[in-house]
Amino acid sequence: MASPSLVWFRDDLRVADNPALRAAIDRDEPIVALFVLDEESSGIRPLGGAARWWLHHSLASLAEKLDALGATLVLRRGAAEQVVRQVVSECGAGAIFWNRRYGGAERDVDTAIKTALREDDREVVSFAGSLLHEPWTVTTGAGTHFSVFTPFWRACRALPAPRAPLPAPRTLHGLPGGPTSDDLDAWGLLPTRPDWAEGLRETWVPGEAAARERLHEFLHDDLPKYDRARDEPSAGATSLLSPRLRWGELSPFTVWHEAVAVDGASGFLSEVGWREFAWHTAFHFPDLATRNLRREFDAFPWPRLHPTHLEAWQRGETGIPLVDAGMRELWRTGFMHNRVRMVTASFLVKNLLIDWRRGEEWFWDTLVDADGANNPFNWQWVAGSGADAAPYFRVFNPELQAKKFDAQGLYVSEWAADAPTEPIVDLGETRKAALAAYDVVKRSSRTEA
Ligand code: FAD
Repeated sequence: MASPSLVWFRDDLRVADNPALRAAIDRDEPIVALFVLDEESSGIRPLGGAARWWLHHSLASLAEKLDALGATLVLRRGAAEQVVRQVVSECGAGAIFWNRRYGGAERDVDTAIKTALREDDREVVSFAGSLLHEPWTVTTGAGTHFSVFTPFWRACRALPAPRAPLPAPRTLHGLPGGPTSDDLDAWGLLPTRPDWAEGLRETWVPGEAAARERLHEFLHDDLPKYDRARDEPSAGATSLLSPRLRWGELSPFTVWHEAVAVDGASGFLSEVGWREFAWHTAFHFPDLATRNLRREFDAFPWPRLHPTHLEAWQRGETGIPLVDAGMRELWRTGFMHNRVRMVTASFLVKNLLIDWRRGEEWFWDTLVDADGANNPFNWQWVAGSGADAAPYFRVFNPELQAKKFDAQGLYVSEWAADAPTEPIVDLGETRKAALAAYDVVKRSSRTEA
């Protein structure tokens, strides 16, 4: 009797360069493909609205692809441990394969499942599919993790080159009459009342095929201007691959190998290196989204939340054109250019003196690339409390940033032409207040030392 192989898809919604899928193919038994919407396991962060939208479409695309190859994507909802064990027993899977996740709660879930299935005499194997280097393999001479990017990336580059991507399968041997699937539409991942996703639909085509197309288009058309213009939000010089990497529609191995084959990609690849650094940091600090990495920032005297400032920032109604443009781009498209992410985040933390965690939560809810490591890592970077962070006293001036990176005002006029013009705070005064608050952090760290 055949004992099928179960491939559990998670943040790897692709068939190309998918080591778990490849292992199942090589085992030469019928394949059951599973995705679990887990909103119940302890510590798993519920997805934000824009991420749910992306997930819906990316799953639809994966299901279609698997179907064309000969296998069915089984969708189930619930606590992963129960669901995976249930599906394993329904189909009698003898082997279970997945690509590793690196968040703390996810690792706990996966370890529990692995232990339970092995006790039940099933073969369980996990693979490296989402990061170029496993977090425990990049260490300082003293064997500890890196807290500064440049030596981290140098150490990564000194390791053997990332493995070559695995080819996409041409056909799959599915399991006829396998486990039943939930109806994707019934999961309600898409917004209905109201349907706020029009701008997302206009901007993105989720799924593996579109991801590959974008990678090729970027390397061919945009990479030559990347180093020169990547900081200019209206230049169209960056890859827009972040949601693709977030959802694993593209593997970093594919991005790496296709980019190194093109001249002048090292600046771009070092940004992919920041993604690695963020995930390695999250691996070592699983509560990155809630706790200051630099603990002296726990003493930061956040003032009482102003009744309207947070909402004005979220809606793009601060009266600061570059900030409002960024927040409106985010609301409409589920994306914001990196330079503008830095400016809007700095404005929230240092001009409105609102705790970085409130901003991180808003980005988590509204970004299509909302990422368990990249988002909190970068918020802490801006707030000064993170790994290799911008020094707190370096407060971005959004007006100077606009002059430098949006000199013609193209980005602001695209997104914030009708935004209010009266600033809700005075940039100079609030900068002083932020620096005074930072003095408290400095004093407290001196007292502790
Ligand atoms: P490119 O410049 O083309 O870079 C290529 C890839 O490198 C990106 O797709 C991304 O995977 C990675 N990358 C680039 N910059 C960074 C960075 N600073 N940190 C980590 N990885 C990076 N990125 C996310 O993917 N998800 C998030 O939730 C997220 N939240 C952020 C929040 C703040 C406050 C800030 C300042 C940055 C955040 N970033 C996040 C990082 C960065 O802004 C986006 O990855 C980038 O804008 C995506 O655009 P791109 O794909 O065109 O980037």
